[in-house]
Amino acid sequence: MRKTVALEKLSDRDKKHLWHPLTQHKVSPDMLGIAKAKGALLFDEDGKEYVDGISSWYTCMYGHCNPYILKKVSDQMQHLDQVVFSGFTHEPAVRLSEELIKILPKNQEKLFFSDNGSTATEVGIKMALQYHHNKGEKRNALLAFEEGFHGDTFGAMSVSGLSVYNGPFADFFIEVERIPVPTETNINQILMFLERRLEKNNIAGFIYEPLVQGAAAMKIHDSDGLDKILAFLKEHGVLLIADEVMTGFGKTGKNFASDYVQTKPDIMCLSKALTAGLIPMGLTTCTEEVYMAFYSDDIAKGLFHGHTYTANPLACTAALAALELLQTDEIQTGIQNSIKWHQKFDAEIKNHPKVANTRQLGVIYALDLKVQMERYGNLRNKLFNHFMEQGVFLRPLGHTIYILAPFVTTKEQMQRIYGAIKSALDLV
Ligand SMILES: *Cc1c(COP(=O)(O)O)cnc(C)c1O
Repeated sequence: MRKTVALEKLSDRDKKHLWHPLTQHKVSPDMLGIAKAKGALLFDEDGKEYVDGISSWYTCMYGHCNPYILKKVSDQMQHLDQVVFSGFTHEPAVRLSEELIKILPKNQEKLFFSDNGSTATEVGIKMALQYHHNKGEKRNALLAFEEGFHGDTFGAMSVSGLSVYNGPFADFFIEVERIPVPTETNINQILMFLERRLEKNNIAGFIYEPLVQGAAAMKIHDSDGLDKILAFLKEHGVLLIADEVMTGFGKTGKNFASDYVQTKPDIMCLSKALTAGLIPMGLTTCTEEVYMAFYSDDIAKGLFHGHTYTANPLACTAALAALELLQTDEIQTGIQNSIKWHQKFDAEIKNHPKVANTRQLGVIYALDLKVQMERYGNLRNKLFNHFMEQGVFLRPLGHTIYILAPFVTTKEQMQRIYGAIKSALDLV
């Protein structure tokens, strides 16, 4: 029998058998043991608290261990935990489809479930490729933004432009054409490039993070330019795949970033805040037109993609509860408060000599420091440690510091984040 290890710290026990994501273990510090979380706060195993300034990767927007969501999921748990979603259906999935359709862009009609953000985009990519295949057109390439991020499975990796560490897999990627994000000055060039490029007639779909590129360090682009690109591509039969895994559910100040642009996506990818950080789930939604390209007497025209936990009833229940909360006055007020607080903070800080530029959309706020930094370099680590010492969890990306705190963050907690950022400026 193994000896009891209860007195050892989590961070020490962790090292024996665990392999962490996005980590080079040889040069990484120990993992911090987190014992509990509540609202906007995380508590480590020594009891120190941290404001979760990035909502644990943009998931728990309604606060950690939200009592309303916990209650709904624990009630559901007593009735139906899991059932195969091929040949069966259930109330939480059906209700989620009915409720979500009400707030999605009007052209979205069908929902396809999977397990996470990468699978949501993977399904979106497969839908776009098979859509043309089913129609007898050979379109085998995709279009994507430079510096986009769409996940870590093969299709998602292929279309992601931030592939600095994806070298070992590059030979196996889908063919992808990349364009820069639109600005007021490059939009005509982009449209001219697309006009020429589309003559080849082999682009099946365009996958894009609308308005905010999260992993690229919260880069925000021009909605008019995006709309022009989308309208042009739609005219040329390229399916529009909006990856709203990060931007979805109120973070941009509207329910979806796609609500800011006129040209609506054919396919949308959702995850992260979808289930409020409680249980992983992904969703790919599409228009009736996309769906009908798969609807046939020919079985092989169906979408033969499926995950074991598809539409898990508990995950659907968490998503339903989150959707209800999103539409409450309390959460909408929280969103408006964060927006105002960020604007005020921005006015204070944007002219600071160490700040190169700032940007905001909804509750997403980012600033670039006037220093060059590696994405995972020493200065970045120094900043990270400084924030943690101040009781604030922020994850600088290169020279960018960004905030994406839960909608329920209190004014005092948000001030703690701002204070930590201000004091960090003296460090660089
Ligand atoms: C996080 C993210 C993904 C991947 O989601 P996972 O659940 O981490 O696989 C895909 N697209 C965007 C825009 C994301 O932010």
